[in-house]
Amino acid sequence: MSPQPSTTGGRQRRLALQYWWRLLPVFYEFCYNTYVDTRQYQVTAIILRSREYGEGNRLITLFTREKGKVLAVAKGVKKPRAKLASALQHFMLGQIHLARGKRFDVITQARVLDPGYGLRADMDAFAYACYFAELVDEAVEERQRNPALFDLLTEAFARLAQGCAPDLLARYVEISLIGMLGYMPELTICAHCRRPLSRLDAEGDPVWPTWLGFSISAGGALCPDCLPAVPGARRIAAGTAQVALLMLTQGLAVLDQLQLSDQLRRELEGTFRDYLEYRLERRLHSVRFLHGFGEAPEAVPVCEALVR
Ligand SMILES: [Zn+2]
Repeated sequence: MSPQPSTTGGRQRRLALQYWWRLLPVFYEFCYNTYVDTRQYQVTAIILRSREYGEGNRLITLFTREKGKVLAVAKGVKKPRAKLASALQHFMLGQIHLARGKRFDVITQARVLDPGYGLRADMDAFAYACYFAELVDEAVEERQRNPALFDLLTEAFARLAQGCAPDLLARYVEISLIGMLGYMPELTICAHCRRPLSRLDAEGDPVWPTWLGFSISAGGALCPDCLPAVPGARRIAAGTAQVALLMLTQGLAVLDQLQLSDQLRRELEGTFRDYLEYRLERRLHSVRFLHGFGEAPEAVPVCEALVR
């Protein structure tokens, strides 16, 4: 006996033929997600680092606003007529198009927003830009989104290119980065006894002692009484903590108003850079480059309001 055709199966085939076009949007979305959207993307990025990678290629470290740090390959950029080569320079800010790759994503296009000429033309600015790029490179893991840090870096590069005092800008970047990483040291209370470091006078203004202690391992500033009790603590001018607080509360605008002595600048540098290296658990290589260009600041008067 021959099998009878299934009535249900025939009805399903008729319905499929009648309504197949309704599946087109689903099919289109599937293709777009699989072959277009997930394989290519665009980011706003700064080039932190670039090194040789295979024959004629470069491995570029991008710090992107959308996806954090991304390592990507620029293929064939060492060829004489490579279009990408001129765009992918150190500290360039641009719109970068990438295609996902097996090991590293591949840069396919780059549109320059700020070529960073000002940072590469001046050796002093270049040295500091290298330092800022190293700080960001060391502070974040790959694909760790941090738009606030991206904004800090773009702002710092812009200020550096405009000729802002680079050593104070470096302190601002270090202190801001420490805060963004969640490692801000105690600067208003003693890290050992937890008492306030300043007291209020009759007018309600804060009065600071002339000097304080600072302990990296204890986590910040110490009152003069606790300084001898904390092993490894150093003595610092109270102005060091005050300047750091000013930078944190008033932002970049305060840099133009600060007039600090050489000693205070050196103390700020030593205190916060050592603290940052301790927290990052590594030495920063470009610091030596900075000192090669003489980070010793010019002599300027101590601001009376800052160091009492
Ligand atoms: Zn104390």
